[in-house]
This record gives sequence, C-alpha cells and structure tokens, in this order.
Amino acid sequence: MRFTVLTLFPEMIEQGFHTSITGRAAEKGLLELRCVNIRDYASDRYGHVDDYPYGGGAGMVMQAPPIYRAYQAAVGEGKRPRLLYMTPQGRVFDQKLAMELAQEEELYILCGHYEGVDERVLDEIATDRISIGDYVLTGGELPALVIMDAVSRMVPGVLSNEESGEGESFMNGLLEYPQYTRPEIFLGRAVPEILRSGHHANIARWRRNESLRRTRKVRPELLEKADLDRADRQFLESLEREEKDFSDL
Ligand code: SAH
Repeated sequence: MRFTVLTLFPEMIEQGFHTSITGRAAEKGLLELRCVNIRDYASDRYGHVDDYPYGGGAGMVMQAPPIYRAYQAAVGEGKRPRLLYMTPQGRVFDQKLAMELAQEEELYILCGHYEGVDERVLDEIATDRISIGDYVLTGGELPALVIMDAVSRMVPGVLSNEESGEGESFMNGLLEYPQYTRPEIFLGRAVPEILRSGHHANIARWRRNESLRRTRKVRPELLEKADLDRADRQFLESLEREEKDFSDL
C-alpha cells in the first residue's frame, strides 16, 4: 500500500507514521509513505498558500492553485487516483471503510488547514470526502494519520500475527471482550478463572458472551446489525432477565 499525503505539515505525518507498527511495516516494504509539501507549490516566493474568503468571514482559506500543482506533480499526467479529502463534512470513517480502502494499491490524502480548502480544487481532484467524527480539528493531519493507521492494519503482513485482527472490535460487528495478561493478581483483582482453565471451547464462549455484554451496554445499536446465533440470543435474553429480576426487587 502506498500513501501520498498532500499537506502543509509533512513532519507531523512523517513522525506519526514512522512510529511503532506502521513504521516497522514501512521498513519491511509493506507500506510506503510519500509526503508532498503544498507550500513547495506556493504562488509566490513568500510561500503563501492561503487567502481571505470571498464573501468575507473569519479565517483563511487554502488556495486552489498550489494544491492543484502539488497534486499534478505527485500524480503525473493523465492519472486520476483515489484521493481522500479530510473534512468534518465527509462520510464518517469506520472499520468497513477501512477494509474497503485497504483493497486499493495506492491512496492519496489531502489535509486541509485553517478554514478549509477552495471548493473548486476539491471538485477537481477529490474522489472521497471523509470525516473521522463529529468534531472540528485544526487540520487534516491527525485525520490522515488515523485513516492510514486503520487501513494499514488491514494490509496483510502489517500485524505480526494475522489472527490478532480477527476477534477485534467491529470486525464481527461487536466490541471486543476484555483482555488480561500477567500478573495473575493485580491490586487484589484476579484474572477470570475460566481464562486460566485451558478449556478452549469454554473460553471462546466466555469471550463471546463478554463481547455481547459490552456491546449491549455501551453500543446497543451495534447488536441490531451483528450476526447473532441462538446461543448469543439466549445469553442476551438472560442478561435482560437478570436486569428485570434486579429491578423487581
Ligand atoms: N471550516 C470547516 C472546518 C475547517 S477545519 C468546516 O466547518 O467544515 C480545518 C481542516 O481540518 C479541514 O479542512 C479538514 O481537513 C480538517 N478537519 C477538521 N476536522 C475534521 C474531521 N472531523 N475529520 C476530518 N478532517 C477534519
């Protein structure tokens, strides 16, 4: 997977990307990052890349020509790659979209800053507009890192053990079960007995139930779309009964 990021702050992208798992995967050649500094394509020798908004109002808007020149230099003649513009006005990013994007060989990401970007260049080059959630950040660099991180984990070989992507939150429509590691007792709290039993089927059932319990408590709307079998439904019903009995007391 090759990422090309168009940004005013390449050092922020480089630092974030070349740390930990994505950095290691880049060293192995599984991922590649190319940053294009939009300021290198500024309209004047002072490096201006933004200007006042037409129609007035607060803040500055990133100009179209420097972004377009940066894009053309990176893409090359005649090609139209998938380019994600980071914006709070976009489709909200989730695991499903991460999986979809991981199928691509190459992704371009455009990071806005200040009040945003001249609409005309977006109409010209952006194939997708993506938001990482309903809040406003100062720039698209953190969103770009979020997207690259989530997509990279889906690229085969990036996670050292392919298994470790499987039971994870959202992969099966549920939140993941709680995890424990040594020591066995921490501040008087013991690891659940069943996890030390070595009984694989019981452990799997316990984990599935804890996944269901968590999802029901924190994100009940996820249960509506999750793929549930009979045992799952029975467990959820038992939770409901428990609650009802408790409230009847
Ligand atoms: N005036 C714009 C917000 C500009 S925020 C508006 O109201 O829609 C500045 C830049 O930060 C944006 O251009 C975008 O690239 C990035 N950004 C801010 N919040 C974001 C979010 N939730 N998701 C993705 N990108 C975001």
